[in-house]
Amino acid sequence: MSDAREPGLLVDDVSVGYGPVRALRGVTLEVPSGSVVAVLGGNGAGKTTLLRAVSRTLGFHGGAVTSGTVDFGGRRIGGMSADRVVAAGVCQVPEGRRVFARMTVADNLRAGALGSHGSRAAKAAALRRVHELFPVLADRAQQRAGLLSGGEQQMLAVGRALMAAPKLLLLDEPSLGLAPLMAARIADTIREINAQGVSVLLVEQNAALALRLASHAYVLEVGEITLHGRADELAGSDEVRRRYLGVVDETAASDAAAATGGSAHTPTLSRWGGTR
Ligand code: ATP
Repeated sequence: MSDAREPGLLVDDVSVGYGPVRALRGVTLEVPSGSVVAVLGGNGAGKTTLLRAVSRTLGFHGGAVTSGTVDFGGRRIGGMSADRVVAAGVCQVPEGRRVFARMTVADNLRAGALGSHGSRAAKAAALRRVHELFPVLADRAQQRAGLLSGGEQQMLAVGRALMAAPKLLLLDEPSLGLAPLMAARIADTIREINAQGVSVLLVEQNAALALRLASHAYVLEVGEITLHGRADELAGSDEVRRRYLGVVDETAASDAAAATGGSAHTPTLSRWGGTR
């Protein structure tokens, strides 16, 4: 397990633009060492942009951090090149499980270890760990990655990132497009990876899954953090339930509130106002 006193990820007042498009405005969030933190938000809210700002890959997409700082493990990583960020222990699993379709599963995993500065023994240990987490990747080692199912490709994308032995995993919508059972399996694996000491920053449109996994969550709307708090608090908030958990029965909710004196079921969330 990681040392809980070790500083985690700190994104402080970060704004991002893609040319004239302002995609993030003054975003502040924290992923304490050893935790799972979720960022919820609809299409175009800026979730992927936030991960790119941390992994220093914005430049590949025509974007740039225009203000603010990103620190990890007590070091300023905003300013490093993307490969230095990987070497510092931060790995992103991109949305859409971008595996190298024509390469074998084994070569995809080998490619994941290229960015790490680990010894040969460390890389072999990382591969063993990935195979333990995802036995199917060992069974299919010589198969072309493009032939795997969607869920298996997601496993490969996560496994490839784990080959660099990250301390922080950035996961971009790992459940997207997966059947509920496969999404649940991926969620179990994320839990297991975290139990092995890897911190996780998870961005998801599937708020129900994200709030089950995370201890804390942030809501991102049109480039700004509008709510944050403990995941269980957010899961109980009317606003999150209505907007992100698809709870539409407002009459029942207001009846329940009336029956309990009107306020017992309305948890107060810390609206973003400077508290962390
Ligand atoms: P989704 O869930 O749909 O992927 P998201 O929350 O991840 O959405 P982003 O992809 O970060 O959102 O996009 C945030 C904003 O930045 C959107 O307005 C989007 O159009 C814009 N944007 C994203 N990538 C680029 C780019 N490469 N060039 C210009 N604008 C971009």
